[in-house]
Amino acid sequence: MTADPSADPRRRVPRTDTLLAEPQVAAAAGRLGRELVKTAVQTVQTRVRSGDLPPEDAVAAVLAALPGTAGSLQPVLNATGVLVHTNLGRAPLSAAAVEAVVAASGTTDVELDLATGRRGPRGEAALSALLAAVPAAEAALVVNNCAAALALVATCFCAGRELVIARGELVEIGDGFRIPELLTATGARLREVGTTNRVALADYTAALTPDTGAVLKVHPSNFVVRGFTRAVEVAELAPALAGTGVPLVADVGSGLLRPHPLLPDEPDLQTALADGADLVLASGDKLFGGPQAGLVLGRADLVQRLRRSPLYRALRVDKTTLAALEATLRGPQPPVHQMLDADPDMLRKRARALAARLVDGGLDAVAVASTARVGGGGAPEFELPSCAVSLPAAFAEPLRRGPRPVVGHLAGDRTLLDLRSLLPAQDDALADAVLAVAQRWT
Ligand SMILES: *Cc1c(COP(=O)(O)O)cnc(C)c1O
Repeated sequence: MTADPSADPRRRVPRTDTLLAEPQVAAAAGRLGRELVKTAVQTVQTRVRSGDLPPEDAVAAVLAALPGTAGSLQPVLNATGVLVHTNLGRAPLSAAAVEAVVAASGTTDVELDLATGRRGPRGEAALSALLAAVPAAEAALVVNNCAAALALVATCFCAGRELVIARGELVEIGDGFRIPELLTATGARLREVGTTNRVALADYTAALTPDTGAVLKVHPSNFVVRGFTRAVEVAELAPALAGTGVPLVADVGSGLLRPHPLLPDEPDLQTALADGADLVLASGDKLFGGPQAGLVLGRADLVQRLRRSPLYRALRVDKTTLAALEATLRGPQPPVHQMLDADPDMLRKRARALAARLVDGGLDAVAVASTARVGGGGAPEFELPSCAVSLPAAFAEPLRRGPRPVVGHLAGDRTLLDLRSLLPAQDDALADAVLAVAQRWT
């Protein structure tokens, strides 16, 4: 008796055309593009050929192998307790900002006045929202990020000239990004004043020459110098520069609009301008709580010079960033601020409720007190009281690699899932993600 060749599943590998013609697969190809779907088809054919998958399960396997979107960036639940986590994309956008981004994604009136049919100023609504939020500013400009704002300022005011900066403010932000290297790359010559730990007003004034293009103050965002120290603040520096014609530029880093009661050491845009800075620079995606952007606010004549610079065109932002920025300013409190202001009692309740759900699911989970941080180079020493769900340390990797990735942080032999870097509306997704990982595992 000879074996029936059709009984061998490897002989019955479904053809590419057949699989692609399946209605659900064809619909996916319309949504994700044919190439991504074809890759999934080929992976599944290989599995059938090797006898690993019955041919009749091929269509379901193709659908299961498809990515959720045509892009490969995945949403991640940030349970690190670091509110602004650079590796996780910094500030999450508010729902209002996400809606504005979606609305602006197609063709939009970013540079057209619909009333007259003529060209209009680009992103005017976002700029006026910025000016409404920072009344001390006469004018505003938005570029790609704060590094771009620094590059634009240094190029415009200091190329071939001197930029005066305190030695204690030659900051490395992270991942090897050093502000002094960025500044000199523009052709500005740094005129360093003071020492690592101390600088006096006289150091600044003695450094001024006809060749001085600007004086720059940089907020030492991610470190603190303690002991025998002295810095010169904007309020002290501004009167000494008044009348010299040298602009005073303050890079405040994390982009608070106004002072925050919890973060007294964090500079803000409104105060820096009210104290006499001619221009202030900040990131859009740190404590400001919006999209990646570099915010430039201050004197109208200086902002106009930056806008006229040929470099500005290379650094300007797109319509979706402008949309997100405006909605962050005009819409409800952005997520980073909700997290910053979260009530510790609420955090405890959330942690207990989550731990109880996980214990019901058979896990070794317990609510514990924890410590959260601002992150993103803001308020480096500031600890926010928080609560976390503690799980065995072995959960860290499977949680990160699960279908809905969760990033926590390790503390000894436990993985802590901190609730301050998540919004209450994300708690269900967190519980589901942990339970799904536990189920796969056991
Ligand atoms: C974070 C930071 C920057 C860099 O900002 P990006 O928006 O990431 O370019 C520059 N200056 C200071 C003081 C910062 O804290």
